[in-house]
Amino acid sequence: MKLTIIGTGYVGLVTGTCFAEVGHQVICVDRDENKVKLLKSGGMPIYEPGLQELVQKNVASGNLSFTNSTVEGVEKSDVIFIAVPTPSMNDGSVDLSFIELVAREIAAAMTSYKIVVDKSTVPVKTGEKVSETIKRYCKAKVEFDVVSNPEFLREGFAVDDFMKPDRVVIGVLTQRPVAAMKEVYEPFNAPIIFTDINSAELIKHAANSFLALKISYINAVSQICEASGANVQEVANGMGMDLRIGRKFLDASLGFGGSCFPKDLSAFIHISEELGYDFALLREVQKINSEQMNRFVKKIIETLWVVKDKTIGVLGLAFKQNTDDVRMSPALDLCLRLQKEGARLRVHDPKAMEKAKAVLKDVIYVDDMNDVADGCDALIIATEWPEFKKLDLERARKALTHPILFDGRNLFDVEEMEKLGFIYKSIGRGR
Ligand code: NAD
Repeated sequence: MKLTIIGTGYVGLVTGTCFAEVGHQVICVDRDENKVKLLKSGGMPIYEPGLQELVQKNVASGNLSFTNSTVEGVEKSDVIFIAVPTPSMNDGSVDLSFIELVAREIAAAMTSYKIVVDKSTVPVKTGEKVSETIKRYCKAKVEFDVVSNPEFLREGFAVDDFMKPDRVVIGVLTQRPVAAMKEVYEPFNAPIIFTDINSAELIKHAANSFLALKISYINAVSQICEASGANVQEVANGMGMDLRIGRKFLDASLGFGGSCFPKDLSAFIHISEELGYDFALLREVQKINSEQMNRFVKKIIETLWVVKDKTIGVLGLAFKQNTDDVRMSPALDLCLRLQKEGARLRVHDPKAMEKAKAVLKDVIYVDDMNDVADGCDALIIATEWPEFKKLDLERARKALTHPILFDGRNLFDVEEMEKLGFIYKSIGRGR
């Protein structure tokens, strides 16, 4: 099929590339000229495991191309996906101006029947608005359908998630686009759930908020573990073996971040309020999340007593493993707070240092994770990169002026770390 994706970011580029990989003819549109230039010249604007190879392969086969022109994308395709940002406003509501603009641009460019699919995460009832907008701005007065197809991929595992989705959700206003949408997703052999458009939009917000709730739940439990001397990992393992609960998203940590959970949670609370429901449960999820970071910072300050002029090493800047994305990253937030306290920082991330440089200034970026501890008063693990488990601990202990390690991701065993001579402080494991 001929498909166009408008917005070539984390979601749009993965979506377009994976559609091309299964044999569709795909055009990825982005208004960012530098991004399109970079992609056309074989470069990658983001790091996502396995993506670069797939992009190169599908560009070479002629299935995938890039352009700045929405008009070209709309003219040449039957199904147009929208994958532009839907950021938070100050009051927690969603800034839908990117979506509205793209709807108008599509409307202006349409000269024949199109299916317009929203893949961006949006509040319930947005699809109806997109449909009204296209109708209003479409001069050619051609037929069209608006569909909601929320995306559930995880950064760091995006290609795998897209190629093997647990389910594909497709919300429609009429039955007309159903056959074409089935054809788009047929090669993936995944269960497809067709719903009304409002339910599809709600599925995304409800799912992300539930996952955030699960993280805040275990983080709240981690506080009880610290107060009682229990071990949150053992509690999570025991809980997680219950198939009704499951082990995933039960790792106590610094809290969740990234470009999705915080914004989607705020958006869901906000739209619920507009619809007359006070989602107090989700406000508590937010509160637990910010308290979790506050408690970690407090732990650092209590241990070091005075942070001003101390040198602290930080391993991890991305909001989670396997990505270069630092948007709303708890690790970055932690660094900025420590800087405010007067700390000097030596930092490392396997993939996110370039993106972090735009936000985190006046720190020393260290290329090798094993060199970070050199001359530091303490070391912090802030992102759960698997390579950090292979840190040369003996070298780190000797390099630190005092062997203090704060582990915000519970990567190491408490007893082993103490045996190695560390003052080891993690989350929810003992007092
Ligand atoms: P992103 O910022 O990485 O990419 C968005 C792209 O859209 C940018 O390249 C931007 O230049 C482009 N753009 C903006 N306006 C445009 C326009 N008028 N015409 C053409 N291009 C335009 O964002 P993202 O992380 O890919 O997120 C996109 C949407 O997908 C959001 O709603 C997000 O909530 C949702 N989502 C994200 C993820 C994720 O893990 N990142 C997962 C699921 C859903």
